[in-house]
Amino acid sequence: MKIIFATGNKGKLREAQEILGPGYELVTPAELGIFEDIEETGDTLEENSLIKARYLWDRTHLPCFADDTGLEVDALGGAPGVHTARYAALVAEAEGLGTEGKDHDFSANMDTLLRKIAELGPGAERTARFHSVVTLILDGEPHFFDGVLEGSIAHEKAGCGGFGYDPVFVAEDYPGRTVAEIPEETKNAISHRGKALRAMAAYLKENE
Ligand code: IMP
Repeated sequence: MKIIFATGNKGKLREAQEILGPGYELVTPAELGIFEDIEETGDTLEENSLIKARYLWDRTHLPCFADDTGLEVDALGGAPGVHTARYAALVAEAEGLGTEGKDHDFSANMDTLLRKIAELGPGAERTARFHSVVTLILDGEPHFFDGVLEGSIAHEKAGCGGFGYDPVFVAEDYPGRTVAEIPEETKNAISHRGKALRAMAAYLKENE
């Protein structure tokens, strides 16, 4: 079965292909000549992943799925949440500072996050989670799958593996080091996105 995955990220594609197995052929929008950047205008992870999946369904009428991930920090009321990718730029904008070069900048995002928690004082709760939502569209019908990785925010960046906020995120099951310091296979086995993708894979296998 051919399924479109709304991503241009080779790591995500490899991870999803491994989870789905050889019975599914993953195709990217670019391989179908679809290059538009789909604007994520939703207020929730569900809405954003649905916007991306729906766009592909409308264009192709082929089975397709999209994911959206947010980092939810309890002491910040669930922020950056749906704004995780653009956190530094959004905070800079709100504080009336320049945003140049801060959009989708992993390092600036982590610095902003550490600063916002530090501003709450030394006793601030550091618990947090990565939350992924995958939306699968089959025959025009959306199906949603969730995956969560519980953990906490480190006091400083450490490690050079992974991507995004991995150098400041400590997974509950691997205390004492950040996700950027654990092997990639270990991260994939516990990751929020992996859990959501495995839930989708189980659904596909049951409903084929
Ligand atoms: P996306 O929806 O997968 O593009 O994720 C949104 C943002 O969340 C990314 O820009 C990253 O900053 C962050 N993110 C998503 N997944 C991970 C992860 O596994 N580790 C660290 N950061 C992540």
